[in-house]
Amino acid sequence: MNYQQAINKVYQTVLQGSRLGEAADYIPELARVDADQMGVYLHHNDLSSASAGAWDQNFSIQSVVKVLTLSMAYQKLGSDIWHRVGVEPSGTPFNSLGHLEHEQGVPRNPFSNAGALVVCDVLLDLFDDPRAAMLQMIRESTGNPVIDVNKSIADSEKSEGFRNVALANLIKSLGNIKHDVNELLDLYFDCCSITLNCKDLALLFSFLANQGTCVQTGKALLTPSQTKRINAIMLTCGFYDEAGQFAYKIGLPGKSGVSGAIVAVMPNVFSLAIWSPGLNIKGNSQRGIEFLEGFTNETGQSIF
Ligand code: GLU
Repeated sequence: MNYQQAINKVYQTVLQGSRLGEAADYIPELARVDADQMGVYLHHNDLSSASAGAWDQNFSIQSVVKVLTLSMAYQKLGSDIWHRVGVEPSGTPFNSLGHLEHEQGVPRNPFSNAGALVVCDVLLDLFDDPRAAMLQMIRESTGNPVIDVNKSIADSEKSEGFRNVALANLIKSLGNIKHDVNELLDLYFDCCSITLNCKDLALLFSFLANQGTCVQTGKALLTPSQTKRINAIMLTCGFYDEAGQFAYKIGLPGKSGVSGAIVAVMPNVFSLAIWSPGLNIKGNSQRGIEFLEGFTNETGQSIF
């Protein structure tokens, strides 16, 4: 399979398309990003790679980090994590407060903001310094020692993060958050504000394309069975309330973020990151979705 050829072809097609979407504007720092950018990086399990466009341009990881926070909690806590958060698609926007009151503060899944806040609360129990543990894991997997939290983005999120504050307080009042809400929100916003590029992101997610073991370092992060479950949750819950469309059009487990990042994995074959900041109405990268649909059609690579 010539992945570089397929990427070049689909990249050009998507670039020439007229639809771009709008960069997220509810976080002031994200609104300043030029939406007309796109990068792609594919990391194959045989260590080859293929790329296009602005793959080396930095962006904030945003909700894509929720897969990593979950993986870290799952690795240490095992299936007890599922007492704190469910595995069902919510069918609601990422920042919804909707179900919580009737469901005793147990979020439907770990990839909603509510779910990610609960997972961060768990991390505060499991690690002396979860922020440092997260950065260490990311730097080790990517081999990129300069990856860090972008403080301007984190501050920008804090200044406008009213719904996240509401979510954390509501869940705490229902007993499913133990730590101080401000400490928890700081951790959550910092994790979302980690900046990296498409290459870093593809390398970082190689463990989910390789039965839980990072392809390039050989380090096991999850067992094959845990990896299966994380990939299943990405497939069913990874794209806000567009997860069904994503599975239907693309057929790969993946996760998106409001910075316009998307990472997708083809189990046992590759991990693929794409970034383009213009978002569609559901909050997913417009060009990212178009690219992945074209790419999976062109290569025939999907889990179905
Ligand atoms: N930091 C963002 C928020 O909590 C993440 C949202 C996302 O990427 O879905 O609003």
